Amino acid sequence: MADVPAELLRRWDIRGIALDLDNTIVPWYSDALAPGVKEWAQMVLELDIRMCLLTNNYGAHAMGVARELKVPLVRGALKPLPAAYARCLRELQTDAHQTLSVGDQLFTDVLGAKLSGMRAVYVRPIAGRVLFTTRFLRMLERPVFARLRRAGVPGA
Ligand SMILES: [Mg+2]
Repeated sequence: MADVPAELLRRWDIRGIALDLDNTIVPWYSDALAPGVKEWAQMVLELDIRMCLLTNNYGAHAMGVARELKVPLVRGALKPLPAAYARCLRELQTDAHQTLSVGDQLFTDVLGAKLSGMRAVYVRPIAGRVLFTTRFLRMLERPVFARLRRAGVPGA
């Protein structure tokens, strides 16, 4: 979560975070938080920023992670469709433009945020097993990242 430092959250005046689950803060279908996530979540709460887990997954492990982080959960979200982002904003009670989506996929986490008027930070996926649809979407991400690199976008 080094890509989402306190300094950025302050600069963008972020009040709420819609946080992806699989491959962002836990390996797919695991409830073991990646190193540093707990400390990052603590930092976010100390900045008085609300957080909501927003995942396309239906798995029970999502509930365990939400309990551990003590944040609400919106699951089965069908990202990038806007309905679940609206649910998430209701949970957070924040305006879209002050809400940040953090996730490891361009065509769900980032696209969905943009369709809903939210800011987005793409984070590199945690290595490990992925769902076949994720593998397919990652294939579609490749030319986009290549284009961003050619355009000189840092971190692409
Ligand atoms: Mg993900």
